[in-house]
This record gives sequence, structure tokens and C-alpha cells, in this order.
Amino acid sequence: MEENRNFASRVIPPAEKTGRAWWFAFQGDKLLVHQETDRVSIPLLADFTELRLPVLRQHYLGHLDGGHCYTVELAGGITLPGGMTFEGLRHVYGRMDEDLFWVAGRAVQIIDWDRTHQFCGRCGIPTNLHPTDRARECPQCGLLNFPRLAPAIIVLVQRGHEMLLARARRFPTAMYSTIAGFVEPGETLEEAVVREVKEESGIAVKDVRYFGSQPWPFPHSLMVGFTAVYESGEITLGDEENIDAGWFSADHLPPLPGRISIARKLIDWFLEEQGKLP
Ligand SMILES: [Zn+2]
Repeated sequence: MEENRNFASRVIPPAEKTGRAWWFAFQGDKLLVHQETDRVSIPLLADFTELRLPVLRQHYLGHLDGGHCYTVELAGGITLPGGMTFEGLRHVYGRMDEDLFWVAGRAVQIIDWDRTHQFCGRCGIPTNLHPTDRARECPQCGLLNFPRLAPAIIVLVQRGHEMLLARARRFPTAMYSTIAGFVEPGETLEEAVVREVKEESGIAVKDVRYFGSQPWPFPHSLMVGFTAVYESGEITLGDEENIDAGWFSADHLPPLPGRISIARKLIDWFLEEQGKLP
């Protein structure tokens, strides 16, 4: 897996704004972009006030290759300057600089966390931003709320020259992907792998090995990838999540997930192992 290249996460903004910064502006979970011919770009401005758009909240994110990055949330019902639109993050992947895309993935989660933790979950009174940490703090009881992350496992199960893929009910198209699911409280990642594969396919696995991880900001998951080896069992669709599952060889592939996902990186790893990566 690739490292996130040159991004340095920070909470406290620079004392002075020098030069232009990247501004990741959201309305809900939609990102404000400049439309170019077939690409999009992130506004690069000395200050967001240049756009004269009303801002609901603002956070400093850190810097990418020395360029400062901020995120803001915009109100609904505003008129955008010409050439600018809001787009869903999934739809801009591959159409903009990839480093900036993943910073946008950080940004949308910071905005969502800040929006949804305005009040203390214990006493119900308004919270304050912590002065130095990425946290909101209750002035009454001291409860700290950090940005939420939901760890999920995703696993490629191998049986000889075949891999286990499933078609989830939630997929809009006839796409097949690796088994995935959220980690439960009290569970290790490896236990989650074994449980999810069993629940979703009826298959028992062994040799669970770490593959790599990927932030998945839809809305706030961290995907932790594994490979595993078939041990026993026949495919049975256990829960309601999948409408089909099967063993696929490199020579007979179903429609696969897009290149944004760690699922595809796992599948490509398998194809490469088989000497069949196109
Ligand atoms: Zn409280």
C-alpha cells in the first residue's frame, strides 16, 4: 500500500497566512471544486473570504508539501461563483490530484465530526473546541470527543487459484468484491476477519495476514485489509448482506470494484500472484 506522501496533520493554524492555501469546502458531504475540462481542482486562495461565501465552521488541517490546508463548511442555498460546483468525493476520484483527494477525505471527516459533536453526549450542553488537540470538550463534565473512526476489516480469501468474492445487496451494479465488515467492540482484527467470512459465506479461513490499510471517508471508516486461506466449508449466504458469492479464478472475473478501493488492491494483488494482472 502507498504511504500518504507529504501530508503533515496539524491542529493549530499558522500565526499568519502567507501565500495561498488549499481550501476544502463542503456543503454536507459534497466538495466545492473548480470544474475544468474533464478534471476538477481545489480552490487555492490566500483566504476563503475571497469567495464571499458564508462559512459555518472552519478547521486547519495541516500542510501538504508545505502548502497549508483548511476545511470549511458552507451553508445550504448559496450561489456559487461561476465555474464552481459541489461534487461527491467518490465522483472526483481520478479527476483530481490524488494527494489532494485524500486530504479531502480527511477534511470531510473533520467537518462531519465537528458538526455532530456540538453538544456533550453526557450533559447535553454546548461543547468547545480543545485549544491544542483535535477534540471537542464539555466545559461542565470534561468529556472529550475526538473524530470518530469505525474500523472495518476487508479480506481476500484464497483457495488455490481462486478467490472468494461476493455481490453485496447494497452495490448498485452487478459488481463482486472481497468480504468486508465492521469490527465489533472487544474483538481483534483477526477475529473479525474469521467471523465476517463465516457469517457472510459459511467458509472457515486460516492464515490471516495483514495486507495494508486505507482510510475510507464514506463516512468515517478505516479499512484494514487482510489475506486469508480457505480452510473448510461450502458457500452459504448467511446473512442478508450478499445476494451471491462464489470462487473466481483470474480467467473468469466478474465486474470488479473501482481502483479507489482497497478491495481492488487486494484483488490486483491476487491477480499478480497468479501472473494474471492485466
Ligand atoms: Zn458534559
